[in-house]
Amino acid sequence: MATFRSVNPARPADVVGEFPVHGPGDVDEAVARAGAAQRAWARLPIPARADVIAAAGAVLARDKARLTDLVAQEAGKILVEAGGDVQEAVDMAAFVAGQGRSAWGATVPSELGDKLCWTTRHPVGVVGLITPWNFPVAIPSWKIFPALLAGNGVVIKPSEHAPACCEAFVAACVEAGVPADLIRVVHGTAEPAAALAVHPGVGAVSFTGSVPTGRKVAAAAMESGPRVVSLELGGKNAMVVRPDADLDLATDGAVFGAFGTAGQRCTSTSRLIVHPDVAGELVDRIVKRAAELRLGDPRDAATDVGPVITAPSAERIAGMVAGAVGEGATVATGGEAATADGCEGGAFFAPTVLTGVRPDHTVARQEVFGPVLAVLEVADLDEALDVVNGVEYGLSAAVYTRDIATALGAVDRIDTGIVYVNAPTIGAEIPLPFGGTKHTGNGFREAGTRGIEQFSQVKTVYVDYSGRLQKAQIDTHPLDEEGR
Ligand code: NAD
Repeated sequence: MATFRSVNPARPADVVGEFPVHGPGDVDEAVARAGAAQRAWARLPIPARADVIAAAGAVLARDKARLTDLVAQEAGKILVEAGGDVQEAVDMAAFVAGQGRSAWGATVPSELGDKLCWTTRHPVGVVGLITPWNFPVAIPSWKIFPALLAGNGVVIKPSEHAPACCEAFVAACVEAGVPADLIRVVHGTAEPAAALAVHPGVGAVSFTGSVPTGRKVAAAAMESGPRVVSLELGGKNAMVVRPDADLDLATDGAVFGAFGTAGQRCTSTSRLIVHPDVAGELVDRIVKRAAELRLGDPRDAATDVGPVITAPSAERIAGMVAGAVGEGATVATGGEAATADGCEGGAFFAPTVLTGVRPDHTVARQEVFGPVLAVLEVADLDEALDVVNGVEYGLSAAVYTRDIATALGAVDRIDTGIVYVNAPTIGAEIPLPFGGTKHTGNGFREAGTRGIEQFSQVKTVYVDYSGRLQKAQIDTHPLDEEGR
């Protein structure tokens, strides 16, 4: 079988592991094994399934240091961010396990006597998961834990850039008591993912990644038959800074939001929409801080910004910066690929601030997925919110102001799935729904109590113990003499 290597993006000569390139036949086998194991799993009481998920969280917590180091090595995230990635999975286990002992459906009073109505949730069977590399432990946990709690088997195709992290996560689940056949991992890039998306044995497909790939997956999945397809795609996240904002806070937020994870979060702040009265001072502060950020080995605790995931990524980002300059933007800092001591061959990109960006510029409309902040000066609040909303993405946005009316008005009018006030566009918490509007997704949400929806089917149950035929709507409101 052909294989591929997962490498450390800071030092590509450091091979993290070698993995098989799976084909459609391997996907068939994985789906069959997960399907066979699912039948017994679905018969377990839900709290028993929840106990196994809680145990998986305990294994992840026990191994947090080792997993954090692996995330840093394979995905290039600096240690504190890699630790956050693993902690998200630990927190998700606790949250999902708790859902196993809480309300599972709704009980609703019937409009008729001697009749009970309730809803309950049922598994979809085997779920097919396709995940990106940038949250290589957290995102599998967002999908796998709710899918397992709902009684499903799982086949996951992780990113080819983070297969070892996914294998480590799955190993923790198996150690905690998840049957090994219940979660199967297939490796590779497009071929196994596409085979999974159209597989007749898969009841629901859950994809997180870029908009172009997500569209392909959704189109193929729907063509092969009706099924649940959930999409969590890219973002073009904006931070609005009003003239009354606390500029220290806005500076901290912009630097963390734009350059954290080298700008490779779906929620990374990529547009700063700032009032001209404070633009000069705020941009000066951000530029100074950006230039001071230390690029380096993500496993070195002194590093602020790690590499981007691959050399082609760095080239793509450089191309977008050059395109922005061609459209009239100015590079205030950064703007080019960089190197870091001791990181031979690593794909680094200097934290970049572009000024003079207009809403119609490509860099203001398309996801960069790199450490690039585009600054747009807009005075009028209505216009600023129009700029926030004037892109095809709708994941997250932030507004910085001290004025409550400005803040709440913006929260109401911003068309994104997540809005922050006086905090950057990143920083989601597990008990709350995560996802976006417009082309960022197709209406599903992950995390929170809604995270289970894509992995379960709702069944509505009516039990009539009256001993006679009762007719909803008709018995309660018989037509009067005038036919009303
Ligand atoms: P990507 O779209 O390149 O890859 C995602 C997954 O799809 C990978 O497993 C990849 O191997 C697979 N894939 C590649 N080609 C395929 C094909 N033709 N058919 C089916 N699957 C295919 O994304 P990425 O570079 O891994 O991740 C970055 C993107 O993910 C960014 O756009 C980011 O915004 C987005 N993202 C979104 C969220 C969210 O929750 N909304 C979270 C994290 C990342």
